[in-house]
This record gives sequence, structure tokens and C-alpha cells, in this order.
Amino acid sequence: MSELTEKQKKKNEKKRLKNEKTLRKMKKNRWWGGFIGFILFSSVIAITLVVLIAWMLTYVVESKLVKESSNARLIAQLYSDKMSGKDEMDRMLDALELQRDYIVLDKNGNQLEVKGTDTRNGSNTLNYTTSQLGSVVIYQDIHGQFLKIDNDNSVDIDFKGLFDKKPLAAGGKRYIEEEDRLIVPFWMGVEVPDSDNMIFVKSSVDMDEGDVIFMAIVIGGVALILLGGYVIMIINLVRGIANHRRVNTMLFTDPVTKNTNWTWFKAKGEQLISSRKGASYNFAVTDFDFVKYRNFCIAHSVEEGERALKDVFDVISANLSDKEICAHSANAHFAVLLSYVNEENLDSKIRSILSKLEKLYVEHKLAFHVGVAKKGVKLDDRGRAIRRIDADIEQDYFNACAAAEELSESDDSGISYFDELLVEQQKWIDTVNDNQEAAVKNEEFQVYYQPKYDPKTNKLAGAEALIRWISPEYGFVSPGKFIPIFEKNGFITEIDHYMITHVARDQKRWLDQGYKCVPVSVNVSRAHFVEDDLAEQIRDMVDREGAPHDLVEIELTESAFFDDKNAMITTINKLKEYGFSVSMDDFGAGYSSLNSLKDMPLDVLKLDAEFFRGENEGGRAQIVVSEAIRLAKQLNMRTVAEGVEDREQVEFLAEHDCDMIQGYYYAKPMPPAEYEERMRAGFKDVEAEKAAIAEKKAENKTEGAAAQTATN
Ligand code: C2E
Ligand code: MG
Ligand code: MG
Repeated sequence: MSELTEKQKKKNEKKRLKNEKTLRKMKKNRWWGGFIGFILFSSVIAITLVVLIAWMLTYVVESKLVKESSNARLIAQLYSDKMSGKDEMDRMLDALELQRDYIVLDKNGNQLEVKGTDTRNGSNTLNYTTSQLGSVVIYQDIHGQFLKIDNDNSVDIDFKGLFDKKPLAAGGKRYIEEEDRLIVPFWMGVEVPDSDNMIFVKSSVDMDEGDVIFMAIVIGGVALILLGGYVIMIINLVRGIANHRRVNTMLFTDPVTKNTNWTWFKAKGEQLISSRKGASYNFAVTDFDFVKYRNFCIAHSVEEGERALKDVFDVISANLSDKEICAHSANAHFAVLLSYVNEENLDSKIRSILSKLEKLYVEHKLAFHVGVAKKGVKLDDRGRAIRRIDADIEQDYFNACAAAEELSESDDSGISYFDELLVEQQKWIDTVNDNQEAAVKNEEFQVYYQPKYDPKTNKLAGAEALIRWISPEYGFVSPGKFIPIFEKNGFITEIDHYMITHVARDQKRWLDQGYKCVPVSVNVSRAHFVEDDLAEQIRDMVDREGAPHDLVEIELTESAFFDDKNAMITTINKLKEYGFSVSMDDFGAGYSSLNSLKDMPLDVLKLDAEFFRGENEGGRAQIVVSEAIRLAKQLNMRTVAEGVEDREQVEFLAEHDCDMIQGYYYAKPMPPAEYEERMRAGFKDVEAEKAAIAEKKAENKTEGAAAQTATN
């Protein structure tokens, strides 16, 4: 489809950005962000705890080793001092509560002294040096295999093995338990001071309740802090998920149908159309407009109306396939994305949904206007489907709505396809919208007058003021091209004011110039009739220009009579009270009007031009027209026949006492200067004029022939 106007593009772009912002906001709320945070935090907690426990154990073992090394050094010192022999030394050790087994070896490994039993495990030894321990040699005890000596110069306790319940080799001991103490024996060798000897003292890593409590407090404390964080994290995550669901619900749910809304449709639809898979499908963005939904609500109730919208949504949804989606987009509109094989298939798909919708309620036949914007498959040079990456479903829906709008005159169901002509129309609507204010300001709108003549006397009896737009840019524009647009965009009330003011001004000027003025009728749009002070507004406008009220007539179109009847009667009465005549325009066009005639105290009945067009089999039109005139007479109304072009019609109308004729037979709408001439002449006998012209022509011919003969 070709581009629309700049203004429209800007408007669409603005809308698009707004929607994107909303979607971005929504995405920020994604719960999976919280979920990833949760996983990360869990890992951090796990790693921290493992590291903490490992560090804790190393710290405890280290501190035990340090303690044991100072004991070993003390024993070595005692041994070095030699004091008073081995027994004395052992007593000393007893007194110091250091009853340890020990072995003293010389530099060649010969045993010099021994207390207790040498239970060193010779195959598992380590020369261990740390800043706190100094240099020591560590042996595993044959009963203490859970002291792990690693080649990487570290000593550890195999706690896992300690608490493991697996059976051990014969003679193996897990640990020695004494008064709630956990003891892992090992041997620690230190140099005997002032000698080459080494003393190996049976030591142990023993853990008492205090150690366990210390470890439990540190690990438990940290774990508690982490757990707190963990709980906060989980609460936040749960809240995030709930929030996300709430936002999703709010953002994507239509309050009336409790189902998908426009935002969802736009996001999902664009995804479907622009996906790689979607490239090979023909799509159609459609608008289903519930015709006369307001009337449905008035006839039933607003609640019933909303229930009906929900039912409509359900019917449409039930008739869609996987790739097709639907949403209640606004008021009585539904956005529907359809996929189709070919145009017949699309048409029958829509018709099938339409027929189900029409039959939704037994007691009330529904009608829908369907606007369709097709998005067929696009192929590249090699015949492969091209992805629609720049899909703009909003624009397509806008086009579909514009197509549906084309059916607005009808109350029946129908389908309208968006095409280039509509683009042109839309462009023109925008042009009118953009230029209307300036056109009024620059007096580009001009009042043309179409005289009304009495068919019996050929005398000027009145005129109708008809607007023309003489635009420096678009040339001469007839009202049919802009009045309906003004009626839709509301500018019509301004135009009506403009026309009434100008007509009153002209009439006043002509009166002052001595013209014999006749009443001029002005069209007042039905949109204007909702204002309850309309009669006063008109009176004031005419008074401001100083024109007599009886020289201004107000024309109302018949369709206006279908709005608020009582308000209308009040306004008509007020207008008449102020001295204005009121006429019913286009009587007989479209609607049944006899009721309006019955209720409205009107002065003039204008018979629609359609009475004088087309087929008139068996003189039926004449019967209707003559009866309409008779009816009007009985109701004390004058009659005006519009659109009369033939002499026969004029004669017929004169015969049947039609008061005035407004038609090309007498005159087309004309600028004020020309109308002034008509006023000066006062009457126009078209036939006499024609006869005079014919006579003049004939005379010219005879004169010409005589002159020719003379020359010859
Ligand atoms: P309308 O009020 O029914 O005006 C009569 C229309 O019939 C005029 O068309 C007039 O030019 C045309 N007409 C009159 N005699 C003949 C004839 O013998 N043959 C043919 N073919 N046409 C004839 P126009 O001026 O194009 O206006 C069309 C409609 O636009 C008007 O219908 C009226 O509804 C609306 N309109 C025109 N001016 C105004 C205005 O100032 N305000 C409002 N609200 N509506 C206006
Ligand atoms: Mg009119
Ligand atoms: Mg008319």
C-alpha cells in the first residue's frame, strides 16, 4: 500500500512509540530477571558456605597443630635438658599433663629413647613447615588414617571419612572418643635442641564441645545471614512474578470481554506477521465493527451491550485457527488477524463469521461492517517468501477501519477492502482537516445562491444559500467533497455560523441597496441541533448583521429528525417565534418522513431531487409528488421542488400547485453578483427566453443569407 499523509504518519509514529514504551516498561518487569538473580544468589550462598566450612576446618586443624607443635617442642626441650633422667622427665610430663608417648631417634634413625608404643605409620609422612608451626615432621598414626597428609604440603582431617560408616580394614579405628572429644592421633617430630636428634611425640587433633560450638556459631551465623538474604530474594521473586502477572493482566486484558485487548493484538499480531514462518502466509488485518451498537445498548441496556461484545468476541475467537487472533480494540470494534489461501477463501471466511455473528441472538439480528487490509505474501526474485520485518499492524488496522468506515451509510452487514482509492480519500480528508481553519479565515468559502421561482408566474420567490470552497490550491470544490467531512469532524457548526452570518449580511446590504429581497434558506446541519440554544444563536447572528428575520429560512435535513425529537420541536418553535421560517430539506430521501411531518411544525417542505430522476413507470412519481404537495398544503406548508431540470416537470408542478421550483431549469447556484441581476430582473420566463433566443438566431441566419445573396 502506498504511504499516507505526513500528518498521519506522525500520528501513527507517536502512537507506536507510546505502545513501545509501555511494552518496554512491561519487559522491565520480567520475572525471569528475578529468577536469574535467585539462581545466582543460591550459587553464591552454596559456594560461600562450602568455602566457609573448608576455611573453618582448616583453621581449627591449623590451630590444633600449632598447639601440638608447642607441646612437642616443650617435650623436646625437657628431653634436651635431660634433667634427672627419663623417669624424672616423665614425672614432669605427668605434672604438666603432657602424658604423651614419644620416641627419640638419632640422626641415623637409631632409637635412643621410647615411651609407649611406636604406632607411627611410616608410609605417610610429611616435612611440614609453616610460619606458625616452624619446621616439623608429621607422621600418620596407624590408628589415625583420617589425618590426611597431602603432597601439596598440607595436613587436613578427613571429616567425611571420620563420620562415614563404611567398615574399615582390620585393626583400623575411625577415632578415639573420650568424654565427648573427638581425637585423631598422629605423630609430630621436632628437633631436640642442641643435638642432631629428633623427638617424635604422639599428638592428636582433638575437638571438644567448645570447638564444635565455635564452628556451629560461625557457620550458623553466616548461614543465617545468607538465609535471610535468601528469604528476601524468594519473597522478591514471588512478588515479581505476581507483579508481572498483574501487569500482564492489566496491559493485555480488555475490561469488557475479559480477554485479549489491542495492546496484545498489536504485539502478537506483529510477531505473527513478521516471523520467518509467517512470511509464507497471506494475512488480512480486519476490523469488525458492531453496527448500531449504541442503539443495541439503548434498546437493551449497557450491561447487555457489554455482554453482547463478549459474546461477539467469543464467536469470532471460536472461528479462528492457530495463526489467527482477535481482540476487542475499542468501543464496538474488534481487531481480527486472519490468514488466507486466496481471496475467495478470505471472503468466505469473513462471510462465515459474519453469518454466525448475525445469528448470535434470535430476537435481534446483529450487523457488522468488516474492513479488510490484506497483507499478501511477498516474493523475492527467486520466488521465496520475504519476511515482513517492517510490519506495522497499527497502520494496517487503521486502513481496515478506514475501509469499514466506507460502509457507515448502511445498517446492514458488509465487507469493504482497503485500496488505493481509500488512500486518496484519506489524504483528501486530511487536506480538508488541515486547511479548514485557514480557509474560513481567508474567506475562501463563498456563498452561492440558487434562486427558487414560482412556476406559475416565473417570479423569483426565494433562494438557497449553498457553500462553495474556492481554494487557491485546490480550485473550485463542491460541498459534497467537504461538507460530509465537516459533519464528521465537527467543523460543520462553524460553517453553519459562517453561512448564516454571510447570508444575513448580504440580505442587509441588498435591502440597503434597494433590492427587492426574497427569503434565502440556509442549511443547518443536524450536528448543530444538539445545542439547545441553537435558536438563540441564530437569532443573535442575524441580529448582529441587522437583517430582518423573515428573510432568513433555516433548512433541516430529514435525517436530523431522527435525533432528539422533543429538542428539535422546541428549537423549531423558538425559531418560528423569532420570525424565521423552517423547512424540511430532502423530503423523501431515504427515511420515512410522514411521522416527522406529523410532529414538526414546519413552514416549508422541500421535495427531494430524486423524485424527478430516473424511472417513472406508469406515472408513479407524479402520483407521489402530487400527493406530497397536497399533504403539505393541508398541513399549511409551502412546497419547493428541488433538482427540477425539464419543462414538463415544471408544468406538472405548476399544475399541482407547487409553490417554488429550485433547479437547473431556472438557474444553477450562482455567485452573489449574478444573483443580484436575478433580483433586479425579478422573474425569469425560461421558455420565453428560449423562444427569443431561437428567434434571434433565426433572424441572424436570414440576415446572413440575405447578405450572402447580396454579395453574390
Ligand atoms: P441541498 O441542501 O439539498 O442542496 C441542493 C443541492 O442540489 C445543491 O447541491 C444544488 O446545487 C443541487 N441542485 C439544485 N438543482 C439541481 C438540478 O436541477 N440538478 C442537479 N443535478 N442538482 C441540482 P450542492 O450545492 O452541491 O450541495 C449539496 C449539498 O451539500 C446540499 O444539499 C447540502 O446538503 C450541502 N450543503 C451545501 N451548502 C451547505 C452549507 O452551507 N451548509 C450545510 N450544512 N450544508 C450545505
Ligand atoms: Mg438544502
Ligand atoms: Mg436538498
